[in-house]
This record gives sequence, C-alpha cells and structure tokens, in this order.
Amino acid sequence: MTYIICEPCVGVCDKACVEECPVDCIQPRDGYDDIAGKQLYIEADTCIDCGACEPVCPVNAIYPEADVPEEWTNYIEINAAHFA
Ligand code: SF4
Ligand code: SF4
Repeated sequence: MTYIICEPCVGVCDKACVEECPVDCIQPRDGYDDIAGKQLYIEADTCIDCGACEPVCPVNAIYPEADVPEEWTNYIEINAAHFA
C-alpha cells in the first residue's frame, strides 16, 4: 500500500507534506511545477505508510490508497506514472 495525492493538491501545492515525510518520497523534482497543473506526487516504492503527511495537507488531498475517494481513483495511476 501507499499514500496517494489527489486532485485537491492541484494549484495549491504548498509542500506542507514534504516537510513531514520522514523518507523524502514527496520530493519536488525539477520541472514538477509544469506537470499536470501543479501538484505533488508520492513515490510508492519509498513511502512507508506512516501517515504523517495526511493530516498536514490543508486541502485534504492525501489518502491511503485503499481509501482514495471514488472520483479520484485515477490519481493512483497518475502518482505511479510520475515515477515510472
Ligand atoms: S505516508 Fe509517510 S512515508 Fe508515505 S508519503 Fe506520507 S509522510 Fe511520506
Ligand atoms: S500538503 Fe496537500 S496541497 Fe500541499 S503539496 Fe502536499 S498534497 Fe499538495
């Protein structure tokens, strides 16, 4: 399992979650601001499912993969594709 960043991050992208992640798997990367309307992504292979990022997001964009709301399940693939 992993955590997924969904649509509410788009255009907000304040990086609050980046500060909390103990394994730096939400690192902004070169050029990320130009990708998919300005949002961040979680690298599934590195995420340790600690949940630290979830409560700090001001727009509730972060969910455990199993709890991603129906309308945003496409973001599971979008996050994975970003690191492919
Ligand atoms: S759940 Fe933990 S390890 Fe995974 S992205 Fe969030 S803060 Fe990082
Ligand atoms: S805290 Fe939320 S809005 Fe801010 S960058 Fe992370 S996912 Fe996006």
